[in-house]
Amino acid sequence: MAQGIFINCTKTAPCPICGGTDWCSWFQGDRGYLLSCKRACRDMYNKQDLCGRDGKMYRFISDKNCQYIYEEAGQHDAGRRKYAGAGKPPVPRKIKYVDRVEPAEDGILDVVYRSLLSKLVLEDRHYEYLRKEGWTDGMIRESMIKSFPENDYARSNGYVPKPYKSSNPTHMQLAGDILDELGISSLKGVPGAYYKPDIDAWTFTGCSGLAMPVYNVDGQIKRLRIRMDYMGIKKCCMKNGFPSFKENGEDIYLDMSGPFLIKDGAKERIKLESFSGKVRPFQSFYADTALKEKGIIKNTYMYGCESKNHCSIYCNSGNNMELCIITEGEKKGQYSNFKLNVPVISLPGVNSYMLLFEKDGSGRCLLDYMAGKGVRIFAVAFDADRNTNAAVMAYYNALLDRLVENGYAAAGTEWSMELGKGLDDLLAKGGFPQFIML
Ligand SMILES: [Zn+2]
Repeated sequence: MAQGIFINCTKTAPCPICGGTDWCSWFQGDRGYLLSCKRACRDMYNKQDLCGRDGKMYRFISDKNCQYIYEEAGQHDAGRRKYAGAGKPPVPRKIKYVDRVEPAEDGILDVVYRSLLSKLVLEDRHYEYLRKEGWTDGMIRESMIKSFPENDYARSNGYVPKPYKSSNPTHMQLAGDILDELGISSLKGVPGAYYKPDIDAWTFTGCSGLAMPVYNVDGQIKRLRIRMDYMGIKKCCMKNGFPSFKENGEDIYLDMSGPFLIKDGAKERIKLESFSGKVRPFQSFYADTALKEKGIIKNTYMYGCESKNHCSIYCNSGNNMELCIITEGEKKGQYSNFKLNVPVISLPGVNSYMLLFEKDGSGRCLLDYMAGKGVRIFAVAFDADRNTNAAVMAYYNALLDRLVENGYAAAGTEWSMELGKGLDDLLAKGGFPQFIML
């Protein structure tokens, strides 16, 4: 049904069902645009037609792996058009890309990203964070995880208070050093890099945090993902031992888990629009908003490049290849590979498991390549909160079904939530998952 182009809900065009400003999206169906709401299931909406937050009626079409699909009532029904409001389609129907830059081949990106990581250091506070999460010095070294600095604007405008200031090169120095080292003149096709014509120089986008490599099946670094530390988004000063800024007269503090207030000496977590999510793809892509509304996708970063979502494969020569774990998140994936000594595939999100089954030009998918390396069983290890999180449970079951349906030997995993939510938390505490063969 979907034809590959998804238009994500945004702040200016939120999801009419759940009101979310990300995650939900529109896509072209057979008869017009359909809305995929990814929170409706989790938020226990009934599978029924709903009046959207924009006052229009939305007809429930189907439930696909816990994504509820809706069609705007009146789109195809002249009789109901008046009721549905203006009757205008919610988004343009045809999308045109302007000056689109495709990512370079994995082999090239591997060279560039390895050069990039070799020029960065892991800041003390990030090192301490990983140590607290159970990482050993050996794991940290082998993982190649480094600290990515705040953007150059934030740096030159003093957004980051002194103890948090980066000891790494600026984004522009970093790009220049890579070009010098590799003896090349352009970083076109490298997600994260873009060209600044006013100063005739290449530089990088990307937020401050931990730069984590995403590996392909051959061990090449094909992308980077950044586990944010939230520095450089707002101008902060140190207060009560934390970077802090004022919003609506209130002191807001930051740590690796995001923003919080201090109430009676304790941390009270809060949600802020600009601090949503923990991990971002490293990419130099932001579609021009005004043009997007007209159905034209034009990157605001010159020669910049979109990353898209990818699985990462953590596999070492000494690994026992019979069993392969499938989990969510790069940090969890890498850590589990170190601890369990088996190959681990990390998904960028539990809802993106279909990436595992995408076939390449030779008709093989990632799972086939892993089977070719000796893997006989794929075990799904999503977070243990699935018993209370309907969406995680739905994706977990859907992935297991899909594995069996496609002829792979599959296993589920279980452990008590008290031992930790994620597989990495469990392993860090010395626990071990229970495998349940299907
Ligand atoms: Zn939604």
